[in-house]
Amino acid sequence: MLSTLHTNDAASTPVRLLDMGVPAFMVATSVHGVLAQRLLRKVCGHCKASHALTPQERVWLGRAHTDGGTEDSYVAGAGCDRCHGTGYSGRRAVHELLEINTTLAESLARKNPAEFVVAARAAMAGRTLRDQAIALARAGVTSLAEAMRASTQDEVD
Ligand SMILES: [Zn+2]
Repeated sequence: MLSTLHTNDAASTPVRLLDMGVPAFMVATSVHGVLAQRLLRKVCGHCKASHALTPQERVWLGRAHTDGGTEDSYVAGAGCDRCHGTGYSGRRAVHELLEINTTLAESLARKNPAEFVVAARAAMAGRTLRDQAIALARAGVTSLAEAMRASTQDEVD
């Protein structure tokens, strides 16, 4: 069965099912994978300009900030007639896929959400929505502000 549930990320979705009262054995045996997807706006190609990182953005980037790459690669749209002053034009999807392996299924069956989330984050390390959003910001496709918004929003809008 395919179902849509609004949660912060793929790792928290099976835990949310437990919270909703779905029996642990059922979550452990019937959830095979969780795909989380967000849409982020692309920076307008007509008013794109380089963007200097703010202190808040540096904090949010954390390690990603120091992992190579040049700060000059970040961009933002100044806003123009073409994008109706928004600085954005078009959208692009980012996603993360969590496959439920034996370790994850067992922690769900034991109803141990803390252990599950830690293992799930480890399983997705480097391949999360946030990682993809940062990569797109570095590539100049979207702004860092938009990457932050798409990575932290609760629901797809
Ligand atoms: Zn524009």
